[in-house]
Amino acid sequence: MSIKKNYQDFCERRAEFEKNPLSKYWTGQTGRYMEPFRMFGNVYYVGDSWVCVHLIDTGDGLLLIDAGNCGGTAMLLHSIWKAGFDPADVKWLILSHGHVDHIGGAKFMRDMFGTKIYMGAPDAAMYREHPEKSFVQDSSDLMDEIIPPDVEIHDGDELSFGNVNMKFYLVPGHTEGCISIFFDVTEGDRTVRAGYYGGFGFNTLATDYLTEIGDPQCHMRETYLESLKKVRDEHVDFFLGNHCVNNHMAEKLEKIKNGADRSVWIDPEEWSRYLDEKRDALLAFMKENPAAK
Ligand SMILES: [Zn+2]
Repeated sequence: MSIKKNYQDFCERRAEFEKNPLSKYWTGQTGRYMEPFRMFGNVYYVGDSWVCVHLIDTGDGLLLIDAGNCGGTAMLLHSIWKAGFDPADVKWLILSHGHVDHIGGAKFMRDMFGTKIYMGAPDAAMYREHPEKSFVQDSSDLMDEIIPPDVEIHDGDELSFGNVNMKFYLVPGHTEGCISIFFDVTEGDRTVRAGYYGGFGFNTLATDYLTEIGDPQCHMRETYLESLKKVRDEHVDFFLGNHCVNNHMAEKLEKIKNGADRSVWIDPEEWSRYLDEKRDALLAFMKENPAAK
């Protein structure tokens, strides 16, 4: 062993990492920085242009929904400061699901600020039994680790955080422990209902993936369809994305730039419309990607 050899090994590992098309999610983080902004009422956006992080000022401490991508924690903390808050005041962190791109700041915030972490019970079990399904290994950073939550969320739970009351449902599909959240948001004399669906991606519904994890008949796709149906008729005025594409965030910000007000975030049709789009897209995906024989 020599210092020079160690450095060469490091460069080779790095070159190998960059060959993976997924590596751009870790190497290009600051390129996705977005100025944080207040969306509506006490809900602020502190995520980047790819993966959402929402901050809610509960009146008795801050609550975060998701913690950004692994490797993006410094940027997340910067965004929280930039939004006018102190990251040390984040009392609660609710994780949409247990994948690598949503849990970035979790360990840091718990260790540093004592933030209490919440996650769907099935994803807490996934961490214990099949940590590989978190994809934390894709970050290629040996310092990243998945941590068990302090509180496991179950279907139908109702929890209060400061003056915010949240209703939770499990919506398995993208992972088994994806959660859906509903709560009221008030701005002036207008109260709207926010709705959040914690994971839409079909990457975990691919035939190869499901076969490898022991579901060769791809039953998880049916589970996903059931989950969409389960919450589709919830009344939602204010649809919060899990990734920015879900609620067309870029288009809405463009409208705001051109003079629109905060009501661009309010659309009582958007939730059911998007869930229906996902249902149709999944049915098409199922035709194109049949289960293994
Ligand atoms: Zn995911």
